[in-house]
Amino acid sequence: MAFVPAKPALYGETLASLTAALTAAGQPAFRARQILDWLYKKRVRTWDEMTNLPKDLRAWLDATYDLAPTAFVLDRQSGDETDKLLLELRDKSLIETVIIRAPMTGVGVDKSRKTICISTQVGCAMGCKFCASGLEGLKRNLTAGEIVHQLIQVCRQEDAHTPRARAELASFDNIVVMGMGEPLHNYDAIVRALTIVNAEWGLGFGARRITLSTSGLVPKILQLADEPLGIRLAISLHGATDAVREQIMPVNKRYPLAELLPAVKAFSEKHGRMVTLEFILIEEINDSLEQAEKLRDIARDLHAHVNLIPYNTVVGLPWKRPSLTRQERFADILRAADVSVTLRREKGHDIAAACGQLRLQTEKERNAGVPAAG
Ligand code: SAH
Ligand code: SF4
Repeated sequence: MAFVPAKPALYGETLASLTAALTAAGQPAFRARQILDWLYKKRVRTWDEMTNLPKDLRAWLDATYDLAPTAFVLDRQSGDETDKLLLELRDKSLIETVIIRAPMTGVGVDKSRKTICISTQVGCAMGCKFCASGLEGLKRNLTAGEIVHQLIQVCRQEDAHTPRARAELASFDNIVVMGMGEPLHNYDAIVRALTIVNAEWGLGFGARRITLSTSGLVPKILQLADEPLGIRLAISLHGATDAVREQIMPVNKRYPLAELLPAVKAFSEKHGRMVTLEFILIEEINDSLEQAEKLRDIARDLHAHVNLIPYNTVVGLPWKRPSLTRQERFADILRAADVSVTLRREKGHDIAAACGQLRLQTEKERNAGVPAAG
């Protein structure tokens, strides 16, 4: 499933790997920082803009690396709240990156927060029954460079909203790894990409403002707990018993709750941070009051925050969200036990949850010979 591009993306290189490559090519090591500075601080688009590099080095870079692993295709805006960027990769695959200009937590709604949602795979192998990203299986993993470059594209897109000042990644509050794909199924690339996003020589974005969401690959959660990264973790739970969970998430057969929950606890104890449990509310599937009680017990035991997300309809799938009254009754059971809980309301959140749908639609149009329209 590994994709081998004609040239590796420069955005996938770390300070160490770039220094090693330069040294092996007979170039001085200090050039690595200069190059990364052009990439991340000055955000140039061409080799020729790297004016403090000698011509032969620029030629070597051009011959060795890809400077644009993703190309902007279209921006679909939903009111003022969200932009969905559709990006095309070198092999013509499509991915989505979403900008959400809305509160993500439900608390402190006075302040509009800006969140970026990035993708980690083309499609997804996990096959959750409710999800657009998994409908057609996994096409391939993204490379670290393709993951990082989504954030560069976001900054460029954001420039349009801030006409005079150039948009910096620091103007965003959060990055969530909740787009298309299962990030822990593409472990090395996502860890490398987030290292670059976090590094002082890279995008310099604080690890504590990055949340990775997983459907629950237990060994990889434990491995992630040992990384020096310090990012936050969210678990797509969606079922508070094995019976309910495995009905909609095949991954639960491989890693049932008896294995998943201790792994989450280990992660949270190691990091001293609250983990988030995501729970999509789907009518007649997981919205019973018994499920709410079980979820309450799990959340209390893990000292976890619970994010209740009313199901976002996916074309071609039968599921629906429960009524508002039923959503509130579910949430009340958690609130009554002092569990920290958010019931998502804002439209923008639906867009993040629906990551994967714009790509699916565009792929269908392409297959039918209709050009993607903006
Ligand atoms: N694969 C990872 C991250 C991407 S999915 C994971 O599953 O956690 C990001 C979140 O969107 C997950 O919690 C996922 O369950 C949720 N999601 C997927 N389809 C959805 C839908 N139709 N409505 C609401 N949330 C959905
Ligand atoms: Fe994959 Fe996450 Fe969708 Fe499940 S919910 S199919 S793990 S992207």
